[in-house]
Amino acid sequence: MATSSRQLWQRAIAQLLALYVAALLVGWVIGQTWLPLAIVSMAVAAWHYWRLWRLQTQLTGHRRLNPARGRGIWPRVELLLLKRQDDVHNRKRRLLGMLRAYRTAAAVLPDAVVIIDRNSQRVLWFNEACEILLGFRFPRDKDQPVAQLLKPLPVSVWMAGGQHAEPMVDAPSPHDPNIRLNLRLIPYSEQHWLLVARDISKLMHLEQVRRDFVANVSHELRTPLTVIHGYLELFDTDDIPEWSPMFDEMRLQSQRMAQIVEDLLTLSRLEAQERLPEESVSMPALLHALRREGDALSQGRHTIVIEDTTRLDLTGSTKELHSAISNLISNAVRYTPTGGTISIRFTPDCEGAVLAVHDTGYGISPQHLPRITERFYRVSTSRSRESGGTGLGLSIVKHVLAMHQAQLDITSEVGKGSVFSIHFDAAHVRPRVAQQMDRD
Ligand code: ADP
Repeated sequence: MATSSRQLWQRAIAQLLALYVAALLVGWVIGQTWLPLAIVSMAVAAWHYWRLWRLQTQLTGHRRLNPARGRGIWPRVELLLLKRQDDVHNRKRRLLGMLRAYRTAAAVLPDAVVIIDRNSQRVLWFNEACEILLGFRFPRDKDQPVAQLLKPLPVSVWMAGGQHAEPMVDAPSPHDPNIRLNLRLIPYSEQHWLLVARDISKLMHLEQVRRDFVANVSHELRTPLTVIHGYLELFDTDDIPEWSPMFDEMRLQSQRMAQIVEDLLTLSRLEAQERLPEESVSMPALLHALRREGDALSQGRHTIVIEDTTRLDLTGSTKELHSAISNLISNAVRYTPTGGTISIRFTPDCEGAVLAVHDTGYGISPQHLPRITERFYRVSTSRSRESGGTGLGLSIVKHVLAMHQAQLDITSEVGKGSVFSIHFDAAHVRPRVAQQMDRD
């Protein structure tokens, strides 16, 4: 049975006492009490110092402890220290194993992974994919400033955003411009950042193939549809009245197909465009034109109101903004029953300006709102078709607004109506100067 530390201490004290008693006896026999007592005290102290020295030498030499056999205090202390030493050693081995496994996993990741020192913004570590995707070389690029290695990408400005830095989407690789990358910055500790670059070249290529396919198909369909529609318009069914409903339906459907093709071509054109012109968009003129179009579409079935409480104009593409807002007004007219009101309000807000189209129409239930700007997504297919919709109007709106860094907010209540608000930031509004208004 293992001896408890209490028993160990009791035995050690008993041994010490026995030594002193023996020393006293010897002192009494030789007639000099202090001499044996002093010799015993010095021997005990020397022995303890020697054990301490031995332990310290073993510990500082990082050697595995070699505990003496025996049942005293020192063998027990050495045994306990040896157990601790073995625990630490095993834990270290386990951690090293884990670290090696993580490093191996990170090294073979298909994404480029770079560990960056946050203060110096220098590269601490990178995996193999960095050599292919970013052109890094080991050991040449270790400890180099990351902004310099990734030139001409605007990495310094990007990293200044820290944890709020938006991912860099579809950026050309500094090593090979044919490689398209998505870069993300992940601050994972006080001192370290992780930069992850993913190769999206294949994805972008497929996306391009899809875009080209839609654009080509739409383009190829345009001419035959125009011809069919033209002949249908020419066809006179006065002599054969029973054919009349069929021809009316054929005209309607060919018109619908032509409109779908036109909308698809508009979307393809917007997708292919990298930038839009930065014109000054005169709002009084635009609102006036929109009102005229709304009136023509409604044909007196709705009340159309324009409110303009800003002294602001917009900056962007007049043609595309006109098309986007006109889509919203066309929807408001088509999805509001006769007698309803449609208001187009242009108001300032703390960040820029808001253009909102309010209607008192059918409304949209909340589960449809997140998907409503997707291509061909309709709340009610029959209602959309009846009203001449293609299912592409809001997709066009979303694209145009994204190119103006504007935000679309939709609030709606079934049976009460909807509000489609476009939020323009300060960079896209400008004061409406008197001189400009005169010119408009
Ligand atoms: P569509 O050509 O079918 O109108 P959109 O992309 O313009 O296609 O709109 C998508 C769907 O959103 C429509 O089918 C319609 O159900 C719904 N919607 C759009 N605007 C309104 C509105 N003002 N009121 C009610 N529903 C709307």
